[in-house]
Amino acid sequence: MRTIDFEAELNGEQLAAVQAEDGAVLIIAAAGTGKTRTLVYRVAYLVQHDVRGENILLLTFTNKAAAEMMERARELVGGEKLTGMWGGTFHHVANRMLREHAERIGYRRDYSILDSDDQKSLIKQIYEEQGHKGDKTFPKPEVLLSLFSLAANKNQDPRDMVVDRFRDTKVDVEAVLRIGNLYEERKKSLNAMDFDDLLINAMRLLEEHEGTREYYQHRFRYVMVDEYQDTNPVQYSFVRLLSGENGNLLVVGDDFQSIYGWRGADYRNILDFPEQHPNAQVFKLVTNYRSVPGILDVANRCIAGNPEQFQKELLAVREAGVKPTLAMLQDGTHQARYIISRMRLLRRQGYQWADMTILYRAHYHALELQLELQREGVPYQITSGVRFFEQAHIKDVLCLLRLIQNPRDELAFVRMMCLLPGVGNKGAAKLWGLLSRRFDPGLSEDRNLLMEKVPKRGRETWAQVHAALEAADPAMLKRNAAEAVQLYLDSFYDEYAVETFDRYDSRLEDINGMMDFAGGFPSVEAFLNDVALQTNLDERGEADDEQDVLRLGTIHQSKGLEFPVVFVLWCSDGMFPAGRSLEDADGGESEERRLFYVVTTRAKDVLTLCAPQMRRQRDGGVVYYAPSRFVAELGSGVLQEERGGYY
Ligand code: ATP
Ligand code: MG
Repeated sequence: MRTIDFEAELNGEQLAAVQAEDGAVLIIAAAGTGKTRTLVYRVAYLVQHDVRGENILLLTFTNKAAAEMMERARELVGGEKLTGMWGGTFHHVANRMLREHAERIGYRRDYSILDSDDQKSLIKQIYEEQGHKGDKTFPKPEVLLSLFSLAANKNQDPRDMVVDRFRDTKVDVEAVLRIGNLYEERKKSLNAMDFDDLLINAMRLLEEHEGTREYYQHRFRYVMVDEYQDTNPVQYSFVRLLSGENGNLLVVGDDFQSIYGWRGADYRNILDFPEQHPNAQVFKLVTNYRSVPGILDVANRCIAGNPEQFQKELLAVREAGVKPTLAMLQDGTHQARYIISRMRLLRRQGYQWADMTILYRAHYHALELQLELQREGVPYQITSGVRFFEQAHIKDVLCLLRLIQNPRDELAFVRMMCLLPGVGNKGAAKLWGLLSRRFDPGLSEDRNLLMEKVPKRGRETWAQVHAALEAADPAMLKRNAAEAVQLYLDSFYDEYAVETFDRYDSRLEDINGMMDFAGGFPSVEAFLNDVALQTNLDERGEADDEQDVLRLGTIHQSKGLEFPVVFVLWCSDGMFPAGRSLEDADGGESEERRLFYVVTTRAKDVLTLCAPQMRRQRDGGVVYYAPSRFVAELGSGVLQEERGGYY
């Protein structure tokens, strides 16, 4: 273990927080002020003051963040001193507790954990038993699962949530709730828990069993939570129960960065902390070590647009650097080319690919960019999440195009058939044989033949697709990928998505984005060629070594991280903020602004906000966009404006 010079390595405010007296402690501070660093040093400080590792519990949000924090702490104080310390995500810690005491709440300790596939198959069984299989008027299993999950995370009665969601529809609310109840019972009898159960059950364990609660309260004399602004009501109760009335609970966070409202997080948890803990010591860190002043200017001004939040200005310690840039670009392709040329320039100045990141509000925003990166041989990785064209819903609609282009594409055929009610892999393979191993969706005779062979349950759905394609000109189908997909959506897939996917709106948004993009190609074939280039990719490009790759990801995934160079895609009003979020009366715009705050504060040296001005629609028309309102709000002089040249 190296000697830590706390005074030299921390500023006064951080040091005070690290050395805080026992009791409740709140560190509320804006981005990059060293909150996570303070937390790690606090662990080191406690260990130096003879607190044993096993008496410390560290909770955070993502597995990645937890691993990084443990790593930093180990580096500071040495691994052996931390033996017995627990650190990880809420789910991780909940699971560890339940493995020790599950029988107290009616499970065996060897319970299994259901992943989302397991959850789906379980709930599908229940659907069948209840006679909802293939019932088109009834919401799909995934939709119900996500509703039940939101209720669980908000610690709310599912009834309220279900009634609310299906208001003004013909959906039988009682039937939905019956499925919910059966799902709960079934998990119990299988001795299984899903992810939400882990949290709920750990909370119940502490709530209902005084002995267990006291045991853990005693064991974890020090409980610390990072990113506290994103705790949901269940996590909140869990933390409260663990730390007890007078425990040593230290929470760290920034209400500006609360971006999981849509999953039940509530940033008021952090704002109300002093009220809930009247003796709490509160520390506010104001010095930002991460970013150059110009970037902080952007961050400070943007968040001032959310006056309901706890306003905290960021002060820069770093020397002035380059002013953040607003790049006014023509469209998505121009944006991609501009970014690549800037990155090449930055590389000549000494930055590596791994020093740079490209962040976006929604996956489909990065479509043209992924294509260009691939073309240009830039080595890149997408931080969690699948590449755009490998997502299920995109592949689903692409199979139609693949068959239009190549009627012998069996894989595409099987995938398409499996979307129909009553058709599985086996059935699809059989159909393929019956059709003499070819099927062209553009040909009437092929479709008629298929019509006769599709099993009864899927026939009605197929008939709709058939009718839509029948009305279309076959030559057009080969030429116009967007039009073909549109027919498919209207006749069937739109409804399929609504019933099948949790967050179907963002999936449909992806598909629409893809269609606009496809509109720029002269034929289905040309479009598919480019897509194929995307998916069969060789990961390596012109990197210096294997580690040196450019990272792409959504803003949500970038929380807590920092990069020397950050590009933000589509800072255009209607794209970011996303049009659909603004319709959400429940603080949609405020949460979008917090996202904008999060993304700008990831940058250390160079921040570039890209604002393409138009998007081509599939029909050849264009939509024009003004720069994001978050950019417009900044006022003049904060950004240097640039117009990308021709590439
Ligand atoms: P976020 O809100 O994004 O989670 P944070 O408040 O957790 O940010 P950290 O990630 O802990 O901030 O710190 C930001 C950067 O500033 C890190 O690179 C960290 O090492 C550095 N830093 C923080 N405090 C100091 C300090 N006193 N001296 C030098 N560097 C510091
Ligand atoms: Mg942090």
